[in-house]
Amino acid sequence: MNCLFEEKKTEEGTISEKNQKGKNTTTSVTLYPIQEGYIADTPGFSTFSIEEIESKDLAQYFIEFRPYLKKCEYIDCQHEKEENCAIKKAIEQGKIEKQRYENYLAIKKELRKKEEQKW
Ligand SMILES: [Zn+2]
Repeated sequence: MNCLFEEKKTEEGTISEKNQKGKNTTTSVTLYPIQEGYIADTPGFSTFSIEEIESKDLAQYFIEFRPYLKKCEYIDCQHEKEENCAIKKAIEQGKIEKQRYENYLAIKKELRKKEEQKW
């Protein structure tokens, strides 16, 4: 984070002598505004404390998905295995980065797992 931004934004840990890996000093989720959205600095690599977001609403939080969301064939399209999904089409056309879509799927999986645990 501190490399991305010129000013010091967050505490850095020292390198562990044991495994030569940096220690993660992030203890809470912080959103840093960037040009086209936010970067979330989180204490985990994939675990998010964003339980207030329901997995079915996740696509709304990917701002570049928004123009396509209402163009899917199914009104409750999850943009996964559905046919005529506008999001998947936009990726094929290079309008949405594939990496972003993969992140979407990964976060969705995490959120679903948490939702299942609640029941
Ligand atoms: Zn879709």
